[in-house]
Parts: sequence; C-alpha cells; structure tokens
Amino acid sequence: MTAEDIKAWLSEVRHPAKGDRDIVELGMVDKIETDGDRVEITLAFPKRPDPLKDYLAGSARAAVIRHAPAASVSVVTVVKEEKPKRQTLDLNLDQVNNVRHIIGIASGKGGVGKSTVAVNLAIALARLGYKTGLADADIYGPSVPLMTATEGAVPGMTEENGRDLIVPVEKYGVKWMSIGYFAQNGQALVWRGPMACNALKQMILQVQWGDLDFLLVDMPPGTGDIHITLVQDIPMEGAVFVTTPQQVALADVEKAIDMFRNKSIDRKVFGIVENMAWFTPEELPDHRYYIFGRNGGEAMAEKFGAPLLGRIPIVQSIRESGDAGEPAALSSRPDGTAFIELAGKMAETIL
Ligand code: ADP
Repeated sequence: MTAEDIKAWLSEVRHPAKGDRDIVELGMVDKIETDGDRVEITLAFPKRPDPLKDYLAGSARAAVIRHAPAASVSVVTVVKEEKPKRQTLDLNLDQVNNVRHIIGIASGKGGVGKSTVAVNLAIALARLGYKTGLADADIYGPSVPLMTATEGAVPGMTEENGRDLIVPVEKYGVKWMSIGYFAQNGQALVWRGPMACNALKQMILQVQWGDLDFLLVDMPPGTGDIHITLVQDIPMEGAVFVTTPQQVALADVEKAIDMFRNKSIDRKVFGIVENMAWFTPEELPDHRYYIFGRNGGEAMAEKFGAPLLGRIPIVQSIRESGDAGEPAALSSRPDGTAFIELAGKMAETIL
C-alpha cells in the first residue's frame, strides 16, 4: 500500500461538524508514513482543541484497517504550528457535575434487550418528571439513533468556559448522545482498546448535559477492558443489570456483577431487570409462556442481594416500536406501563 492509497482511504473519513467534508479535503492529513504493514498518520488540527479529535483519529485508523486489515496503524494528532505530540485527552468532570446520578445499564451478553430497556427506561424516567439523559456507549451496536428515530442527526458543538462541548440530541424529553451519531451509516466501528475508551469517555464527559437527575449509560455487553476503564474513569454510581431468565445469560450477568463489585471498582448494584420474562400472545392475554425459563431474575436478585426492579414480558410491540423509533415507554399500553413501573421502582431504589 502506498501513501496515495492511504490518502484515498482517509478521504472516506468525514468531519461531522464541518458539513460532512472529509479530512483530506479539509487539509487535516498532515503526514502519511508507511513501511510494510506499518502506517503512521499525522492529523493536524487548528489551534482550538477539537472535541472530535479522538473520534476522527479513531475513524482514520478504522478507515485504513478496513482496506488493509493487517496494517498496524498509529495516528498522531498535532495542533498546527506546534511540535507533534501524542494525543492527550482533555477530559474533566465539569460536565457531569450537575448530574445527580450516573447509572450504567449493563448486561452479561448481547441480545438480552439491554438497549431496549435503557432507552425505554430513559423515556419512562422523563415521563415521571426526572431530568434524564442517556449516553449510548455500546460501541458494538449503538442503538439509540434507530430506537429514537434520530439517525442522521448531527450533534452540534458549542463552547463553554473555553471548552468545546458536544450538544446532545433532544427528543421525547430525554437528552441523547450516541457513538452512532458519529459513524457513517452501515459502517462498523472497528475501534479497539484505548481508542475506543477515549471516544466513549468523550461521549459522556465532553457533552453539555446540564442539570440532570439521571444520566443512564448504555454499556457495551460483557466485562472487557473497556468496561473497567469506563467505570473507573466516569463517576458512575452503580449499575442496573438486564438479564433474560435463561441460564447462560445468568452466568454471564454474574460475571458482570462480580466486575462491578470487585474491590478495585467497587460500584453499587442497584438491581436486576428480567427482560423477556414471559410471552403472552395477543389472542390469549391471560396466558404466560415462560420460554426462557421461569423466575431466573428473581433467583439472581436473591443470590446477589439486589432487588428485582422489574420484569418485562416479550411483547411484539416492544420490538416493533423500538424499530420504528417510538419506544413502547411513550405509550399507555401495558408494555408502556411496565417500563413506567420499572422506572418508578428504580428511582425509588436510587434516590
Ligand atoms: P442488547 O442491547 O442487549 O443487545 P437489544 O435491546 O438490542 O439487546 O434487543 C435485541 C432485540 O430484541 C431487539 O430487536 C429488540 O427489539 C428485541 N427486544 C428486546 N426486548 C424485548 C421485549 N421485551 N419484547 C420484544 N422484543 C424485545
């Protein structure tokens, strides 16, 4: 691969705050060095710190890896007219000072409905009158844009006390921020390790949240390094765990709970939400089919000495309303009230 190839690949990286122009066109690609599979890219930023610095560096790296999966890519960012230096993060906790409770929504594995619960909980909390925000940190499958029908929204930028901040997207009474707003449609995020962590931290700490009662963080599933750094670097008070009653899911959630309670992390486990607790077909409203097993969430709650905050059935309208961008919690159907009850119980447990 030549520097010209790499330059062409980098032209796929767009700057969301600059009218979607690409970084080559914007003159931000300062230097490309390549030697075998090793690639070093230097991105130049104007004097003012750019809040999207980590995002753009991550995207540049991802763009090269997409075309040359074997490449070892490092991205250095420089401020024009200054000596190159390794990027450092300007993250402090000012933006979450006025957030009363930062709560992770976690799960042991993907597909248990963690994001569905997180988005519906956020809307339900707002409907109960709490000022609520949700940061979608699920790097493997950001779902807030789809579930709230805000795909394509480009978060604005603002300056406050000399710091550049990202303005969250507001809809349904909730402030939303998602890593998905910064990815181009259909492009998988291939960030790993520290780059992913920094981008995620930015999505939480460099956002103009303002005054909030609850900031929910939709965590990536599992218990990797990303989780540990996220929890350690963000003043997260504790987490709510989403599980299905299925045994495998329970074993995984156990691992995730252990991580939160580990001495070096030491965060609260506010409770368990049992999702997909049973299925009730529309034509047989009095029947409950326990297709993933019965009372798994209750057993887990008992085992870990944490309350069972709620049980959400499998309801076709929960999936459909999520896919349509109008989550169930907005409705007064039984599936909507299930989330309102859950939010009430959660608020009561935490406040
Ligand atoms: P996760 O965040 O754990 O990966 P998602 O929230 O993306 O899971 O949910 C996975 C799929 O299951 C989605 O299609 C979602 O609409 C659906 N789903 C989640 N919870 C329910 C439920 N209670 N009833 C019906 N469908 C659900």
